[in-house]
Amino acid sequence: MKEHIFLASPHMSEEGYELSYIKEAFDTNWIAPLGKNVTEFEKEMAAKLGAKAAVALSAGTAAIHMALKAVGVGQGDLVFCQDLTFSATANPILYEKAVPVFIDSDRKTWNMDPGTLRLAFEKYEALGKRPKAVLAVHLYGLCAQIEEIAGICRSYQVPLIEDAAESLGTTCKGRYTGTFGEYGIISFNGNKIITSSGGGMLLANTPDAKEKAAKVLYWSTQAREPARWYQHTEIGYNYRMSNIVAGIGRGQLKVLDRRIEKKRYIFSYYQERLGHLEGIGFMPMREEARSNCWLTAIQLAEGCPVKPLDLMLALERDDVESRPIWKPMHLQPVFAGYDFVSSEKGLRIVDPDMGADSSVGGQLFARGVCLPSDTKMSDTDLDRVCKVVQSLW
Ligand SMILES: *Cc1c(COP(=O)(O)O)cnc(C)c1O
Repeated sequence: MKEHIFLASPHMSEEGYELSYIKEAFDTNWIAPLGKNVTEFEKEMAAKLGAKAAVALSAGTAAIHMALKAVGVGQGDLVFCQDLTFSATANPILYEKAVPVFIDSDRKTWNMDPGTLRLAFEKYEALGKRPKAVLAVHLYGLCAQIEEIAGICRSYQVPLIEDAAESLGTTCKGRYTGTFGEYGIISFNGNKIITSSGGGMLLANTPDAKEKAAKVLYWSTQAREPARWYQHTEIGYNYRMSNIVAGIGRGQLKVLDRRIEKKRYIFSYYQERLGHLEGIGFMPMREEARSNCWLTAIQLAEGCPVKPLDLMLALERDDVESRPIWKPMHLQPVFAGYDFVSSEKGLRIVDPDMGADSSVGGQLFARGVCLPSDTKMSDTDLDRVCKVVQSLW
């Protein structure tokens, strides 16, 4: 019997760091609510990434919600949001009854196209409107053109939030993703490069980062006023990370660099073995950046003899997990009523079955596949995946 190969699954440290942090929490009875692991995890992460402050939360989605509140997004405000992403990026905009405008990607990075972002600003300036925030993503660990995006945001004096949920450890010119914008967020969900069994973190990089972090802490712990009784002047949330969860996160942070090395190895293994196949292309990487290669994603060109679905089904028959590229937000029924600024003119349908159009994000979605990129994969596993792929050509 062949073993199941996962797309990406939890991978605890070889040394057992996570368990020793959890044991310490048990021994001191700091099971909940707070404890040393939570505050130390924040300090260790902020120091590693070079963020001014960090707040550990129950999920990356919660961190996005808190970042939006920190920049003052409220009812009716516009937020320019990357279109090609996981829905968790965009949902918190709706939690605040704000209005997303979806911005298409470029082919160079698969992330928000700075030229399209500029177009969106011009379009809305002409209507006398300006967004309250820009929400950019580093998909699959690929670094967006973040300096240019940040520059555009600065010129309009609009704060930038970076969704670095998938790019923890990715650097651009030596600087970590999540520290370019006023706020950054990371995720420790089960399939991310490191996991705390579920959780997230907000990174604050503003001059008043410490005060903003304190405010987020207040909102995320039920907005309790400093009074003897339970006193509330604002709506609160129950978003704080638990001390046990933070213990797993601390242990995982110790092996982050090791996991990145393995993810990068997986990417280069696939590239070497499959790169020559007709019509296959690999996710692009900026020269100035060093990607964490969270997932290896490929593109099958228009004339390619193999279709993405054929490839996914063939892998499934061999008990190997793979996945399509994220389906863009403007193609999701739940966001159908919102504006979308495309990087391509004259959109047409390219795949009626998948509901994909000819926007850059739509095409990446229609032609893409994420190959299994589990850090526990051996060379034998990688070889097995490559053989299935090669058999289709
Ligand atoms: C995983 C993910 C999130 C959400 O993080 P959770 O911790 O699962 O809430 C947000 N954005 C992107 C791009 C993600 O991949």
